[in-house]
Order: sequence, then C-alpha cells, then structure tokens
Amino acid sequence: MRNLSLKWRLVLAAAAIIGPVLLLLGLFIHLNSRSHMLDVATDNLRGQAQLAAREISGLLARPPHRINSDALADSISAAIGRRVTIIDGSGRVLGDSDEDEAGLAAMDNHLGRPEIRGAGLNGWGYSIRYSHTLKKDMIYLAVPVVVGGRNWGYCRVAWPMSSFRAHQRSLAGILLLGLAASGTLMLLLMGSLWRRAVKAIGQMERTAGAIIGGDLESRAPTNLGIPELDRISRTMNGLAESWSRTAAELRDRSLKLSAILEGMSEGVVVLGHDQRVALINRFAAGLLDAGGDAVGRSILEIIRHPGVKDLLEGQIEELDFEYRGRHLLAHASPLASGAGTVVVLADVTRLTSLERVRRDFVANVSHELKTPLAAVVGFTEALRDGAKDKAGTRDDFIERIGKQSARMTRLLDDLLELSSLESEGVRMDAAPVEARALADKAVENLSQAAQARGQKVSVSDSPGGSALVMADEQRIAQALGNMLDNAVKYSPEGSRIEMDFRRHGGMLEISVSDPGPGIASEHLPRLFERFYRVDKSRSRELGGTGLGLAIAKHIAELHGGKAGVESELGRGSRFWLALPLAGKTGGEASENS
Ligand code: ADP
Repeated sequence: MRNLSLKWRLVLAAAAIIGPVLLLLGLFIHLNSRSHMLDVATDNLRGQAQLAAREISGLLARPPHRINSDALADSISAAIGRRVTIIDGSGRVLGDSDEDEAGLAAMDNHLGRPEIRGAGLNGWGYSIRYSHTLKKDMIYLAVPVVVGGRNWGYCRVAWPMSSFRAHQRSLAGILLLGLAASGTLMLLLMGSLWRRAVKAIGQMERTAGAIIGGDLESRAPTNLGIPELDRISRTMNGLAESWSRTAAELRDRSLKLSAILEGMSEGVVVLGHDQRVALINRFAAGLLDAGGDAVGRSILEIIRHPGVKDLLEGQIEELDFEYRGRHLLAHASPLASGAGTVVVLADVTRLTSLERVRRDFVANVSHELKTPLAAVVGFTEALRDGAKDKAGTRDDFIERIGKQSARMTRLLDDLLELSSLESEGVRMDAAPVEARALADKAVENLSQAAQARGQKVSVSDSPGGSALVMADEQRIAQALGNMLDNAVKYSPEGSRIEMDFRRHGGMLEISVSDPGPGIASEHLPRLFERFYRVDKSRSRELGGTGLGLAIAKHIAELHGGKAGVESELGRGSRFWLALPLAGKTGGEASENS
C-alpha cells in the first residue's frame, strides 16, 4: 500500500467511496420499489377482491339465495384475470377458479390462512407464499363476503409472484445498469482529471528538474486548470525567481570581488584551516612565482620561511622577508567564519630601496659637506691664530678656503639642480633641435677644460647628427656636458674624446666615448645613482660632486628618454643619452651610422 502510485490510490479511494454508496443506493431503490410494487399490487388485488365479494353478496341477497360458488369463481376469474377462491365462514373452500370438483374436495380448511385471518380481523388481509396447487409463489388477498350484515365467508384473489418478480428483476437490471454506467462515468471522469493532474505534475517535475539543473529561467505553467496545482506552480515560479535574483546578486558580487582581488596591488592569499591555498590573486601569484597550481598547496611549502608559521599562528603581527630578490611584507588575519586565514602580501621592495636611498642621501650630503666645511673652519682658525701673518701661508690658506667654498657651492648647485628636477611640475621646454647642435653646444662649454688637458673633443659627422630630437636645449647641453666633463676628467691628458649619434629603437642616442680607465661591470648598474662613485677620493680630487650622472639621467628621463653607459675596465667608456626623435629628419641615417 505504501508503494502504491498516486493513480492507484486515487482509484482505490474512489472505489471505496463510490462502491458502497452506489450499492446502498441500489439496495434502497430495490427495497423501496419492492414495497411500492407490493402496495400497488395489494391495492389492485383488494379492489378486485372487494368487487368480487360485492358480486357474491349481491347474488346471495337475491332469491334463490344460493350460488354455484365454483362456477362463480371461474366467471369472476375470467373477468379479472386472477385466480379467485370462494370460502365459506367455516373455512371450507366452496369454489376455486383453478380447481375442479375433485380438487375442491381435497383442499383443506382455509380458516387458518393468514390472509383469511387478516380479512376476518381487519376487513382484508394478504399473504405471499408457495402454492402447492399451482407450484409457484403467489400473493393471496382476501376480503370478507357480508350478506345481510353477517359474515357469510370470504372471497380471495391470487396473483402469481412470478410476474411481480419479473418486473422487479427488470427494475433491478435497469438499476444495476444505471449503477454500472454511473460508476464507469465517474471512473472515466476521474481518469480524465487524473490525466490532467499527471500531465500538470509531470510539467512541474520537469520545471523543478530544470531549475535544480541550473536553468533558473525555467518556469512551470500556471494555467493547468487545477487550482491547487496552479497555486503550487506559482509558488514554484516565485521560488525560482527569488533563486534567480539571489544567484544574479551572488554572481555580481563574486564578479566584483574577483575584479577587486585581481585589480589589487597587494597579494591576497586565502588559506583553508589546513594552511593550504584556497584562493590566490594574480598579484600574489606573481610575487610568489606560483602559477595556477598554487591552489591546494601548503603555504609553508610555497614560502619557505620560518616566520610564516609564526605569522599564521598569530605569534607575530607582520612578517618582513626577502623572497626571490624582492622585499615582501605579510599580514595575516583569520577569516570571520573561522574557516581559515587571509594573508595580504605587499611588495615593499621599492619603498625599502627608497628609504635606503633617502637615508644614504642624507648621510652622503652631510658627509660631502663635512669635509670642505671642516677644512674652511680649520684654515680660518689657522689664519686667525697667526697664519695670516706669514704671507705665503696666508695666500695658500685663502686659496684653499676658496677651493673648498667653490666645492661646497658646486655641491649645493648640483643638489639644488637635482631637487628642482625632482620637484613636481618641472617642465622641459622641449622643441625639435638638431642633435649635432646639442653636441656642439656641450663641446663648446667644455672646450676650455679639454684644452687645458691637451685633449681633443670631436663631434662625429655621421648622418644621425642631423636628426631632430625633442629637447630642452639648455638642459640637454647640461646633461651632455656632465658626461663630457667626466670624460675630460677621467681620461688621460692628450686623449681623444668623441661624440657620436646613433638611431636606436625610435630614439636617437648621443654618446660620449673616451679612452679613459673604464669602469668595472659591478659598478655599472649603480653608476647613475646620486653620490655613487667608483673612486671617491679621485672624484673629490677632480672636483666631482658624485651628482653629475644622476642629473644627466634625470634630464633624459624628463624628456621621455634614457641615459646609459657601456664600459669595460681598461677599455674606456661610452656614455649615452637617448632622446625621442622629432618626426622626419633631414638625412636618413642607418641604424649604426
Ligand atoms: P663625479 O662628480 O664624481 O664625476 P658623476 O655622477 O659624474 O660624479 O660620476 C659618478 C662616478 O662615475 C664618478 O665618480 C666616476 O667614478 C665614474 N665615472 C663617470 N664618468 C666616468 C668616465 N668617463 N670614466 C671613468 N669613470 C667615470
């Protein structure tokens, strides 16, 4: 019963309700029709019996006051079509339409018959029973025959029950047919209702399946024609709509979240409670050099640093560590749900190096100023303490004071220049200038110093020199001048210094080549840093501030260009400044002109 389908349950329920009701109805109609038919039959028989009794009493009241009962019974029976029996007051059968003389004589006393007793007591009586004479069930009805106010006897009419039963059977047949027809009709109606319900439920089931399968736009039909199912469909559609809204919101939120995560300039790594990576953003993957396979791996395996464990256990608040040449700062905080930890990684390499540069810069400036200042103070004190009186010493000291002051002035000038180049809003008055003009200007500025050292500075006549570059003439001449000044300073006396031009990747390189001592490769990457010098004392001796190349590099970068060096120890140096070309040039230069 438990596994019975809804269809069979409905059929059984319907049968359980309709069956007994139809049966009871049938029984009621059957019984009711039987009693009704009996009433009709008895009324009919009684009327006929009374008519016959009146006939008999009328005959008896007239002379000769006698009747031939048997013949009379036959004639009345022929008239009314029923068996007629005439019985006297003592119960003796005097005449019977179905018996002859002999039969009459054999008939027993009828006074005890129920219908006779009923007639004697109530004016009429009837009885249904089997007639041994006629061998069938009969309905007997008797009324008294009254002659002169006295009960003379009884007149009884009988009707075979067979016709009554045949009538009843045909009635029962019609009834059964009606019952069967109405039962079938009900089942058919239920069947059609059931089919509609099954179809509707099927549609709802398919919609529910589609929604569970992820098609949140699927909707169940709401015009199934069965109000209850329509209501369920509407509720289901409402649920699907709210799911669809929630899913869209979640999708939107997750898109925003991943956009934020991917766009962050901090690394974010989400760890599960087993310290394995559950999520890693692009920046973190880049920092840790971990690709998509990082997910699922233990963070302790990815960052092999003893501090990581302490950080994750909350023993330290932040971890500062070196990782593949970068300086990283990590913070860890537990997830609100307690199901893991979020680690945020910041790349502080630049910050750290800036901080170092700042510290170095302050120390360098102090140091650079300290020596000449100490010298000025020392010579001044010496002069005051008497050196002023010795003419030779005094002049020497005054000259030294002058030199140290000039050195400090150069240093301060370079510092001011550098700070103005670094200040925000500094503008280059760039205009198209012929590269050779820039080189000529720088050579002109340095010609005296070169001459003093017997050096020859030549400007190449290669076609690149006629290229137009976007330059602030003054500044570029200064930058090239710094490079040229170094070449003059560091190259031996009488050497040849050359300025040349070369097109390179959409830029024009203006270079200064000298046959000087050259620079060891380990110094090259830092050569353009402020105060970086290969040989400090030699640079100071030559009046260098250690800022010339830093200024040149700044100027180049402010033009959207670059500054660089190629050098080898003992093989001279080639310093260059690359500047953006200004459109078409006069002469076509080859890549390596
Ligand atoms: P400085 O005022 O000391 O010359 P720069 O910034 O101009 O400062 O140069 C930085 C350092 O680079 C110099 O101290 C020197 O050691 C090295 N250098 C620059 N130019 C040359 C060169 N042409 N040959 C050899 N070394 C050079």
